[in-house]
Amino acid sequence: MQPRRDGAPETRKTMLADFDLVIPANLTQALQILSEDATRNGHDAMPLAGGTNLLVDIRARRAAPKRLIALGKLDELRGTTIDNGRVIVGGRTTLTDVLRAPRMAEHAPSLVQSARVFGGQMVRNSATVAGNLCYGSPAADTVPPLLSLNAELTLASQAGRRVVPLNDFFLGYKQNVRRHDELVTEITWPLPPSNSANLFYKLARRKGDAITVVGLAVTLVVESGKCSCVRIALGAVAPVIKRALAAEAMLIDQALTPTLIDAAAGQAVEACEPIDDARASAEYRCHGVYVLTRRLLTQAWERLS
Ligand SMILES: Cc1cc2nc3c(=O)[nH]c(=O)nc-3n(C[C@H](O)[C@H](O)[C@H](O)COP(=O)(O)OP(=O)(O)OC[C@H]3O[C@@H](n4cnc5c(N)ncnc54)[C@H](O)[C@@H]3O)c2cc1C
Repeated sequence: MQPRRDGAPETRKTMLADFDLVIPANLTQALQILSEDATRNGHDAMPLAGGTNLLVDIRARRAAPKRLIALGKLDELRGTTIDNGRVIVGGRTTLTDVLRAPRMAEHAPSLVQSARVFGGQMVRNSATVAGNLCYGSPAADTVPPLLSLNAELTLASQAGRRVVPLNDFFLGYKQNVRRHDELVTEITWPLPPSNSANLFYKLARRKGDAITVVGLAVTLVVESGKCSCVRIALGAVAPVIKRALAAEAMLIDQALTPTLIDAAAGQAVEACEPIDDARASAEYRCHGVYVLTRRLLTQAWERLS
């Protein structure tokens, strides 16, 4: 299809369901459309990134937006950079982009580990990190790594920009603080220091293309033989992916021992509110959290001490 000569966004009717597909040419246009939609009525429009959640939901009649605002032409939101000591991932960056980004394995080992086991190749080529965060599945694979890296999101609208820590982004099951007229334009986190380790493990029924049973990420920083910073993020064991704050508190300013790590792993289980489902029982998920917390903390500590 040829782009319109007057610079207005393209609009197409689709066969999938009764919605219009609007294709803005740039971020300014996308934010204007979202703003007009919010002012006019009503939250009829939804951003469409890779579509690997949204189109599946529309086909299954779990979502019925009247307009989809396709982000495919927003090249300014695609890619990764380093600026002022922070890693920046654009709001249209795919999992494949993350895997191909130079030195990402150094700047976010846990995110790269999660991207490697994320869906299959075709899904990774379309699925975006921002889409994974905004959809808000409790089993979303990029969330534990990004929580463990202390990531922040930039939310942009016509009215301006605001920065929200990922820790404060989720309000409940598939609910977040994003306003209807906002887009996630950036995901950023500080470059990890050399005395840190950052690990992720996805427990699932298969190695590839499987929904996570437990996703666990750990960041550990060691100074003068003691743990100066620790973040433990737990995925797929509660309505919202979250940090195991009480377990973290047990480890701060301590030299880690097997006994202490074991106690922290037990404490991490206390933060879980898992469900029984077709993939695993709640009991199995809790045991997974215990084993993985112990394993990742031990590996991180051995690497740094
Ligand atoms: C076969 C298959 C396998 C999968 N495997 C995995 C897996 O292993 N791990 C995993 O975590 N997930 C998996 N998923 C789920 C899905 O691929 C991911 O959640 C993906 O990251 C969603 O990104 P997307 O770009 O496709 O989002 P979309 O489907 O386009 O959008 C999802 C939601 O985010 C919103 N959105 C998207 N981008 C923005 C933005 N920039 N600003 C504001 N809102 C935005 C949309 O409006 C929508 O509400 C799988 C899905 C399929 C179909």
